[in-house]
Amino acid sequence: MPSAHEYFSIGRRLFATAAGCALLGLAVCQPVLAAQTVAATGGPFTPALAANGIIATGGRLESTGELTRLTFDVERSFDVHGFLLADPNRVVIELPEVNFQVDPTIGLRAPVAATRPKGKRGPLAGAEPAKPLAGVIRSYRFGYFAPGKSRIVIDLAEPARLVRAVVETQPGRRPRLVVELSPIARPAFLASVQKAAPSQSVAASAIPAASISQARPVVVVDAGHGGVDDGAHGGPGAVEKDIVLEFARNLAARLDKSGRYKTILTRSTDIFIPLNDRVKIAREAGASLFVSIHADTLADDPQVAGATVYTVADQASDVAAARLADKENQSDAVAGVDSGGDAGEVADILFDLTRRETRSYSQVFARTLIDYVGEVARLNKNSRRAAGFRVLKAPDVPSVLLELGYLSSQGDSSNLVSVAWREKVAGAVASAVDRFFVARGVVSASAQPTEAAGQLKESFNSVAARGADRADR
Ligand SMILES: [Zn+2]
Repeated sequence: MPSAHEYFSIGRRLFATAAGCALLGLAVCQPVLAAQTVAATGGPFTPALAANGIIATGGRLESTGELTRLTFDVERSFDVHGFLLADPNRVVIELPEVNFQVDPTIGLRAPVAATRPKGKRGPLAGAEPAKPLAGVIRSYRFGYFAPGKSRIVIDLAEPARLVRAVVETQPGRRPRLVVELSPIARPAFLASVQKAAPSQSVAASAIPAASISQARPVVVVDAGHGGVDDGAHGGPGAVEKDIVLEFARNLAARLDKSGRYKTILTRSTDIFIPLNDRVKIAREAGASLFVSIHADTLADDPQVAGATVYTVADQASDVAAARLADKENQSDAVAGVDSGGDAGEVADILFDLTRRETRSYSQVFARTLIDYVGEVARLNKNSRRAAGFRVLKAPDVPSVLLELGYLSSQGDSSNLVSVAWREKVAGAVASAVDRFFVARGVVSASAQPTEAAGQLKESFNSVAARGADRADR
């Protein structure tokens, strides 16, 4: 079934050819399509616009009482399927290829505002509107998804039920594509997310069914530093590159053992890998998740301790995060490798949209990771940070960097060299990975829980008993 993983795969493939615009579940690519229609004379994904005669116009949004309704005028009737995705909560409407002759930014911005103060500009197209556009709909996108397929992707302002998604045909009236939603409690929404997977016929249309059902999401586990780059040094025997390698191996083994994932280590021995190559490994493997493991020092403050999860951002969340990213980004220089800066980035709308969706998935996983790691280990006071880490810059692979702790802290340092402590935390990280993929229906919640999940449950119980101990550390 189409899932986050599949979007990433599709997105990456098309992204790689720079010719399509299947965007990780984002379906906005009208400007791209328009450009291609004019310029393209061939190529693998020259869209056959309106080849099937379906043109959509209009695009009206209204809410009455509990009901939020999105409608488009269309040329004729066709099959429509919808399904739900959680965290972030979305409704995806699957359509045959539709030529949307509609302002592509109509669903991304607040309604043209009589109320907007004069001289003030509203949010740019693509920016997240502060308030829902109408009812339960925060924003929506539509457009080409894959050969023969278009999509409408609706961002929900609150959990909602898909009341109906059909093409309404009435004698004497133009057919209308109607999508109706109404609010629903979160537990019921999450239950529907599991149930409301798209039909087989939709799933099978773009990619051979076998490749979907058999594909396991690829998780890349990246042990920081290595070889000539030691990373940080703590007390005797506490070298970052060795600690994180042991941890990464343990985590990868747990994920492999679950049978749910294909796991790749960027390094499984004490060798140096340039930062861009780590990113490349993830992208070429078609990874759905990249987890980089580190354990640094903060020379100027031995009091700073606890685990921290970083995501990439153009602007650092704080000075310490910026400093750490600078330090990590020096890895190549430490090893005497001329990195040549960031991996080649194509600044276009396709790139920006892909990256935006990827970053939102990275943030979802970062939050999940903090929840799980926080149950078994001490978290940093400011456990969720962001900065410009080069190793997290794959535009199409959700990526986080987990700082297990600080080798400059005595407490952290003794944890980091403890095999039992690393086992426990690796188990929690594996459970967070499970949670991340189960939430988007990539792996089944009903499958056997991993050993990691079982261990986490055990540790939940012991954590309560150790609460006071943790608070004192
Ligand atoms: Zn490091």
